[in-house]
Amino acid sequence: KEVADKKTAKKGETLLALQWKKTENFPNWYTDVIVLSEMISYYDISGCYILRPWSYKMWELIQLWFNERVQEDLGVENTYFPMFVSKSRLEKEKDHVEGFAPEVAWVTKSGDGDLENPIAIRPTSETIMYPAYSDWIRSHRDLPLKLNQWANVVRWEFKYPTPFLRTREFLWQEGHTAHATFEDAEKMVMDALELYRQVYEDLLAVPVIPGYKTEAEKFAGGYRTTTVEAYIAGSGRAIQGATSHHLGQNFGKMFDITFQDDKGETQTAWQTSWGLTTRTLGVMVMVHGDDTGLVLPPRVAPLQVVIVAIISKHLTAADAAPYCEAIRADLKACGIRVKYDDRDLYNPGWKYNHWEQKGVPIRVEVGPRDIENKSARIVVRHNGEKVDFPIEGLGARLKAKLDEIQGAMFVKAKEARDAHVVKVTEWKDFVPNLEKHNLVLTPWCGGEHQDWEDWVKKTSREESLKTLGQEGEDEKTATSVAAKTLCIPFNQPELPEGTMCIASGKVATCWVLWGRSY
Ligand code: AMP
Repeated sequence: KEVADKKTAKKGETLLALQWKKTENFPNWYTDVIVLSEMISYYDISGCYILRPWSYKMWELIQLWFNERVQEDLGVENTYFPMFVSKSRLEKEKDHVEGFAPEVAWVTKSGDGDLENPIAIRPTSETIMYPAYSDWIRSHRDLPLKLNQWANVVRWEFKYPTPFLRTREFLWQEGHTAHATFEDAEKMVMDALELYRQVYEDLLAVPVIPGYKTEAEKFAGGYRTTTVEAYIAGSGRAIQGATSHHLGQNFGKMFDITFQDDKGETQTAWQTSWGLTTRTLGVMVMVHGDDTGLVLPPRVAPLQVVIVAIISKHLTAADAAPYCEAIRADLKACGIRVKYDDRDLYNPGWKYNHWEQKGVPIRVEVGPRDIENKSARIVVRHNGEKVDFPIEGLGARLKAKLDEIQGAMFVKAKEARDAHVVKVTEWKDFVPNLEKHNLVLTPWCGGEHQDWEDWVKKTSREESLKTLGQEGEDEKTATSVAAKTLCIPFNQPELPEGTMCIASGKVATCWVLWGRSY
């Protein structure tokens, strides 16, 4: 917050440029970008932020895409449950409550009086929804039950908050399903994870690595967690993009979610839960933004094209208007989200800067010569490319250009990510690779060896601090220099027989991905 206060304009002033460079001070650069692009405003409760229309629209575009896929392709229905949960329900699944207890916010008063029974605000909704599942599910004919809700949740995190990435209240969708068999639940887990991969890769142009979480990192109370992990080149850190959990029968047993199978026998349902949050937007900003500001992949850009007329003594606003309006109408008819910025209070240079900071993928400039030539100048945000296109068929051309930009942004991000995933088979190379901002893939002795995971965390931290000094860990960013497991990637490199685990020295059973992370 301090950074934002100091670096952003006072009320009524316009701050024209970012104060920080991405390579110079990444956290301050990030704050600059999200404030100047009008995605976020700060709020007086730590960890809570105002999502301004520019970022909320991006969230809506994700919702629109996700809702269609999850409902039509996966047969999930949307629903809404209350945000409060009683103590007894919250505490029903032991591991679950232990995992979440430190972060649960409680309502203990109404007005001046104490509530007789304090109630919790949902950190996630398993314990809120599953008693209803227990009521609704009686027979195998009631299965599968597949529900999703768009909601806010509250996790009173103690780590220093970062807008979008780690906030105390955040927006998400949470899917909760119940199935007759383990396999049906497993399929649902993977289908949801595939949607998350697509949100990141196809909408946000951010490459992700899908895989299983280790036992130590899995969802509290679940059987197994799958994840998509993203990489932020600017900080050399990984971030958990979204998770999809196989809950096994743990919650089913605790909440008595049972059904009669087709032989009349009582069975416990198999369940899944999966969530994608507004963190997505922060990851996208960090991956694509540059020293001018936000750079938006077209598919989540609230505006994909902005038209600016170069008003001067050679071109009056009145003369420019019909030409620009015609372009706008053509683009709109082609399904492009477009705006003609005809505000006469601002000059063209100001408008260029404004829309560049906000990350609009394409600017169309119209000057007197363009009108004469029946053309327009196209300026591409992510690579600065400038081309002149004829006005005839401009909408179709720009539609194709937007697709090209979307693809190119993904390729660029993937190249940057791939260059930072490194295989390491000896411990001595582990920390030096973290120092190079790499994610490290190592042979691993398996999921059960939690002690060795802790050992890597502890030892990588100690060794890192030796070279970095204590400043290596800036309390404010709450990011540790320790490495933790990100996932056991589904896509496993070959593991020659007899390869040893990097930590325990026992025989390795798989490759696991490590990194410093958010
Ligand atoms: P979980 O229910 O714990 O599996 O969380 C689901 C997803 O929410 C995680 O995979 C993260 O991507 C995201 N997430 C977790 N905590 C936060 C937070 N404090 N702010 C924003 N997103 C979060």
